Formats: sequence, C-alpha cells, structure tokens
Amino acid sequence: MQNGKFIDLHTHSSASDGTDSPAELVRHAARAGLTALALTDHDTISGLPEAQEEGHRLGLEVIRGCELSTRTDRGEMHILGLWLPQKATALEEHLEEVRRKRDARNVLMVEKLRALGIDISMEDVRREAHGESVGRPHMAIVLVQRGVVPDMATAFHDYLGAGAQAYVPRENMTPEEAVSLLSGLGATVSLAHPLQMKHPVSWLEQWVERLLPCGLHALEAYHSEHSDSATRQCLELARRFGLAISGGSDYHGGNKPRIRLGVGYGGLRVPASVLDDLRAQRQRLGLPVSC
Ligand code: AMP
Ligand code: FE
Ligand code: FE
Ligand code: ZN
Repeated sequence: MQNGKFIDLHTHSSASDGTDSPAELVRHAARAGLTALALTDHDTISGLPEAQEEGHRLGLEVIRGCELSTRTDRGEMHILGLWLPQKATALEEHLEEVRRKRDARNVLMVEKLRALGIDISMEDVRREAHGESVGRPHMAIVLVQRGVVPDMATAFHDYLGAGAQAYVPRENMTPEEAVSLLSGLGATVSLAHPLQMKHPVSWLEQWVERLLPCGLHALEAYHSEHSDSATRQCLELARRFGLAISGGSDYHGGNKPRIRLGVGYGGLRVPASVLDDLRAQRQRLGLPVSC
C-alpha cells in the first residue's frame, strides 16, 4: 500500500467466527500498513479490550465495534455499531440473550446432524470456538475435519445453510431494534454489506427511510462482496439521504481464506478519509470520537 492511508472497519476475531486472536488481528493490520481497524465480532464485544491494548502498544487506532444480525422480509440484515462505549450495559444484556438463543439453536442443529448419521457433539463444536459466540462456522470446521465435506462452503450448502438439512433458523431482533439500541449507546450505526445479497436498491432505500428516524448514520458502501456498481449505488443512496460511508473487508482469517485484511479479494481499499468523515459526523452530533 504505497499511496495514501488505508483502514478496515469490518473484521472478525476468534472471539466470534474469525481465526486470528484480537491481538493477532491488530498486529496483522499493522503489518498490512493499515492506520485504523474496527473489530466488529458477531454478537460479542469480548475481544475489544485485548484488541485495544495491542492497538495502544503498536500505535494503531482500534475502534470498538460489533455486528448484530437482524431479520427482514428478505432474510438477515447485518448492522454494525462503531465507537461502542466502554460501558454498554443495554448491549451486553442483549448479547447475553442472543448467545443463550444461539446455544439453544446450536444444540438443535447438532441433534439434526446426529440424526443424519454424523458423529458430532456440542463439545466438538465448542472446542473449535475460541470465544463465547459459537455458531455454524464452528460446526462447519468440525464437518470438514471429520471428512464429511471437503470445505466450509460445502458444509453450508449441504447441511448448515438456510434451508439445508440441518438448518435451524435463529430468532433475530428487528433492524429498528438494533439501530435504536446501538444509536442509543452513542455508537455510529452502519448497515453492513447492504447489497451483498443483491436485493434491489429500492428495497434498501425503503429500509434506509425506516431506519433513519431510529438513528442510522452510515452505509457500508465498501465491502469485499460489493461489486463496483453496488458500491456506487450505496454511495449515491448515502449522498441522497445525508448518510456517512463506512467500509471494511469482513476479514475472518482462515474461516474465509480468500478475504484478506484491508484488501478483501484484492481490489478493496478503504481510504482513511472514510474514518475522518465518520469522525466529523460524530463531532457534529456531539458524540465522543475516542473510546
Ligand atoms: P450463525 O451466526 O451461527 O448463524 O453463522 C453465520 C455465519 O456463518 C456468518 O456470519 C458467516 O460468517 C458464516 N457463513 C454463512 N454462510 C456461509 C458460507 N456459505 N460459507 C462460509 N461461511 C458462511
Ligand atoms: Fe461471520
Ligand atoms: Fe455480516
Ligand atoms: Zn462481518
């Protein structure tokens, strides 16, 4: 990365379904020449202190984040909270509830796999999860290890994905609830990879209109799974609605090996100006810019 400064505001550690520990992830970002990183694990903020400590040590800005799953008429919508406060009791209570539901769902899915003749236990799944947010990716790893499937993608296609043989849906909150919760804590709220599933822009626009009054701040225009045209559509929508822009690779380490930190599949670059603009928006709103 020669010209300009680059950042990554969407990453996962072993606290959820990534493979780098939070500290490793920060070291990785420093090696990759990034100037700032947001750790946005699914349904947990337990990796944040370790990541921030390593960030302090290396002089790399670490933004406290998380990614929440919500339900819509067209499947899941993921919502990022950035600049989470140190004390986030309402969020922690919500996440505890989410993890309880996750655990119950994991048990049901393992039962389904066992009924299909696959010798797998909850213990095996937990062993693959290094943090408290346990889910389907950890089941996929076990299925690959056992030789049931050749890779994680096949594990999802044949067994774990929506509608597949061992799938059990998860009860998620609504987008309105998630945006209100995060916004109420003083976080910057961004819709994660809003066009990843290739839904029509009109669908996204309707959601933006519904979520603006709940406290939505930004759209994640830059993302590994966004085509150039999806990125442009997000930029245009954000401009029309006065929203800021966020961007990140959605790095998961070895669990999504083709996605690299900061560069996604190779072509992604999120300039540091994206962070400057998000910070300026926070300042206009009277929200703290360090955490
Ligand atoms: P869960 O939170 O337990 O429902 O698992 C969802 C996670 O599984 C997502 O956040 C992705 O990281 C991962 N995932 C979903 N679909 C796939 C897939 N086809 N291949 C690999 N990972 C996937
Ligand atoms: Fe994930
Ligand atoms: Fe996501
Ligand atoms: Zn993600």
